Amino acid sequence: MAITDSAADDTLDELLRNKARIIELPDDNNEDEVTGVPFPGNHLRKNGIHHLPQWLQQTTIGLFHDDYNTVSSEALDKTAAECLPHLTGQDNQGIPLNRHGLPHLQRKQHASFLHTPLKGLPAPYAAMDASRPWLFYWCTAGLSFLREDVSMYRERLMETVRPLQNKIGGFGGGHGQLSHCACTYATLLALATVGGLDVIDREAMWHWLGTVKQADGGFRMAIGAEEDIRGAYCAMTAITLLNLPLELPPDSPTREAGLTHFTDRLGEWISTCQSYEGGISSAPNHEVHGAYAFCALACLCILGPPHITIPKYLDVDRLIRCLTTLQTNPEGGFAGRTNKLVDACYSHWVGGCWALLEAAVVGPHEAKQNGSVSSAESRLWNREALVRYLLTCCQQPGPKGGMRDKPSARPDGYHTCYSLSGLSAAQNQYTYNTTASTTDRETGRLLSAFNWKGERASEGDMKGLSVERNDVVELVHPVFVIRFEAVEEARRKFARGGFPVVEGTD
Ligand SMILES: [Zn+2]
Repeated sequence: MAITDSAADDTLDELLRNKARIIELPDDNNEDEVTGVPFPGNHLRKNGIHHLPQWLQQTTIGLFHDDYNTVSSEALDKTAAECLPHLTGQDNQGIPLNRHGLPHLQRKQHASFLHTPLKGLPAPYAAMDASRPWLFYWCTAGLSFLREDVSMYRERLMETVRPLQNKIGGFGGGHGQLSHCACTYATLLALATVGGLDVIDREAMWHWLGTVKQADGGFRMAIGAEEDIRGAYCAMTAITLLNLPLELPPDSPTREAGLTHFTDRLGEWISTCQSYEGGISSAPNHEVHGAYAFCALACLCILGPPHITIPKYLDVDRLIRCLTTLQTNPEGGFAGRTNKLVDACYSHWVGGCWALLEAAVVGPHEAKQNGSVSSAESRLWNREALVRYLLTCCQQPGPKGGMRDKPSARPDGYHTCYSLSGLSAAQNQYTYNTTASTTDRETGRLLSAFNWKGERASEGDMKGLSVERNDVVELVHPVFVIRFEAVEEARRKFARGGFPVVEGTD
């Protein structure tokens, strides 16, 4: 270049005056070097925090700082400011540290937090009457992710959900409420977790699901309700875990449109939910959202092997690009939508997408060599950053425990459950076995979702993630989001298919 170094510096100074910029910091990270970056993390450096990962270095943080003040950018700055003291180890909230300097996972406290709602709820929870199955699922599944025994809830949960099951099939949220795909999904997973699946009327469920299947291939959430991607995932989860016939029941209104199976036009309908951003929306032409991406990917992983069905129906490159932008800096967790705030529940909704996507991306190549596709070598996302966010920012300190959206939020069952499954997604490895059967010859059951294997974090993984063995969560099934053991029990229990349920089928 003809321009001299000093002239180049002058021009850069003019261009970047009062703006965030990349500058080279001396090795000792001297806090006096950065000026004019009105970033909320600046004050932290005065205390000389060393050995922070790359994404928490001031230079990296500056890259992600928006100079244009808007309501969104102010909210983003405020969130970064509340998280940085925890992320950088300046405020551990009294939680004991592991040998790598990160707070330990407070297993005992979180378990106690999740047991509490199962014992009885205070009056204000009446407002959540329509969401009772979700409370059952978040608490029982969350406990199982912590290796807690939940078998003592089996009988009670079966008796509690019995009146929520409607004669026409499916479960409502509370007594006398209409059957709904989300409530049915949550009830099913909670029952699977405690070993109580016998309470489900599978034949009625099959008929009811036939009434929510739509002619364009998708599913409504309930009769007359909205058609969206949650319905597709919830319905296919029930059909597969319970081994319901894939043929539509004779009384399904969708048969009049020429459809014969629950899977008809489903992949094509999911394709229509991918937007111009590359992400997935609840239904065609809606806003992209991280949780809908998980529903779409998990549903496609029920339909077939990830490396076949995902690229067949989605533009994988564009989806990866979109989801990558949802991992926030400097927090390291995920936001649900573009330019929104980090929130621990997306540790699952977006964090849970990666195992499925990684298997889709590396599948065809690695499968040729050893018959399985693993997420182990893939680096599509920053696992270490998610683990740090969850352990430093999302654990409620004190004896009550529980996990929360972000430090300024209160803990609840929803965020505790999905923080734990997000931790599992980041800490453990999940592999798809490409040599296993994808359909059961006798019953027609779709088997792809049962072909996943989990592998616990190795010593090397734990070191890389700055955790100890006791900070690692159990393996969580990447498609059904319950323990692998619960998935296997459902697979064996209904292996024969057909109706009615024969007690003791194994
Ligand atoms: Zn949330």
